[in-house]
Amino acid sequence: MHTLTVDVAVIGAGTAGLAAYRAAVAQGARSVVIEGGPYGTTCARVGCMPSKLLIAAAEAAHSAQHGAAFGVHIDGRVVIDGREVMTRVKSERDRFVGFVLDGVASIPEEDKLVGYARFIDKNTLQIDDHTRVHARSIVIATGSSPAVAPSFQALGDRLVVNDDIFEWDDLPASVAVFGPGVIGLELGQALARLGVRVRVFGASGRVGPLTDPAVRASALEAFNQEFALDPAAQVEAMQNEGDAVSVRFTDRNGLPRSERFDYVLAATGRRPNVAGLALENTGLSLDARGVPLFDPATLQCGTEPVFVAGDVNDVLPLLHEAADEGRSAGRNAACWPDVVPLTRTAAMAVVFSDPQIMLVGKHFTELDPQSIVVGEVSFANQGRSRVMLENRGLLHVYAERDGGRFVGAEMVGPRAEHLAHLLAWSVQQKLTIAQMLAMPFYHPVIEEGLRTALRDAETRLRGDD
Ligand SMILES: Cc1cc2nc3c(=O)[nH]c(=O)nc-3n(C[C@H](O)[C@H](O)[C@H](O)COP(=O)(O)OP(=O)(O)OC[C@H]3O[C@@H](n4cnc5c(N)ncnc54)[C@H](O)[C@@H]3O)c2cc1C
Repeated sequence: MHTLTVDVAVIGAGTAGLAAYRAAVAQGARSVVIEGGPYGTTCARVGCMPSKLLIAAAEAAHSAQHGAAFGVHIDGRVVIDGREVMTRVKSERDRFVGFVLDGVASIPEEDKLVGYARFIDKNTLQIDDHTRVHARSIVIATGSSPAVAPSFQALGDRLVVNDDIFEWDDLPASVAVFGPGVIGLELGQALARLGVRVRVFGASGRVGPLTDPAVRASALEAFNQEFALDPAAQVEAMQNEGDAVSVRFTDRNGLPRSERFDYVLAATGRRPNVAGLALENTGLSLDARGVPLFDPATLQCGTEPVFVAGDVNDVLPLLHEAADEGRSAGRNAACWPDVVPLTRTAAMAVVFSDPQIMLVGKHFTELDPQSIVVGEVSFANQGRSRVMLENRGLLHVYAERDGGRFVGAEMVGPRAEHLAHLLAWSVQQKLTIAQMLAMPFYHPVIEEGLRTALRDAETRLRGDD
């Protein structure tokens, strides 16, 4: 058994953990980063990057099949070669993972510990059965994993989670997706566009992260034109039948149905990776999921030298937030007890579906309907959207009735990833609707749709509506 005494020990070499390690080192702290699983980060290996690679293939397939409305015809059949699709997804994924591995290789060997960490006490970690680390401060950056209900486990090898899809060598004929959250929507639609028969089942009525009922209804209508999506499905039974899964359910028209699928993709949420950490040995107060209680501003657990960063804390489980939180937690761990709050950027979330979804600033359900006005634009007749035949969706912008400050937006529609940035930057700059309308708008662009929504909000602020 080796023993080691350091200033900062970081558990997890994902996006948050690597950022925390580097920030702690930058403060002059003797630091180690501990990784139990494969290096490479969730984002690059099984998250952001491979999902966007699959979506890129799906977009290529969709364009190839939908040129006729423009007078562009393919002479012959569009053939989607599942093996080639997955070969590109995996080889480009490996390239992105390679960049992370290069970064890990640049960390001195004595700072890297391989194995799963568990707490002996709040300053001591045991790494597998080979090393004991005493640390002045500890950063927990262990990420999250797919949460799969026991009822799905009985499906055996017919059950898949996002990680499994990116290991496929070929595309299956059919997949039932459970969970129309970000992951379920992105992967479900991509598979559907690549020729896989897809049906998406939800339970709570939600569509992605949207909270605005009108925007959600618009999203639901758009997606159902391409693949079956029931956000509040009644699934009666699910069982293996040979090499397939039979799902018995009531469809959106109230009719009983039974369909067979090659796989069931459980995209039913994620749980924090805390099970193996033996956090009960730390004396820290834990929440119902076993995550230590922490301050979302400083990421510190009470007054103790323990910090929680990235998806494991589930504050905003997004890549850029994990990186920001990691940097902050690493700095705070190194400087403890001199702990400073993280300056968070404006909230922003994007779903890379088509039409895309975005939310910035405050969500609709976080706002008091009496104290805001809602400006609206439908993209059905928006000029540039119609030019591109992407004229679907709805944008709602929210502004404070008192003073006209822009506080948030929800949207389903074309190029939402770009509008999300404009609008998040506007929230962060605390702009009013009038200040936003004083900015230039080129012609003909999607942003003219945003201008329509802002003008609508302006009219309502004047009380002319
Ligand atoms: C399919 C999918 C698509 C996504 N798409 C996007 C997107 O488009 N945009 C976006 O912003 N975000 C996206 N995300 C979310 C994003 O990937 C995460 O927010 C981010 O990767 C979280 O980083 P992290 O450092 O918290 O966790 P991770 O990168 O998961 O790192 C945690 C590490 O801790 C290790 N570990 C766990 N327990 C222990 C232990 N006891 N001892 C040692 N090591 C341990 C794990 O092996 C892992 O390497 C997506 C996620 C998924 C799954």
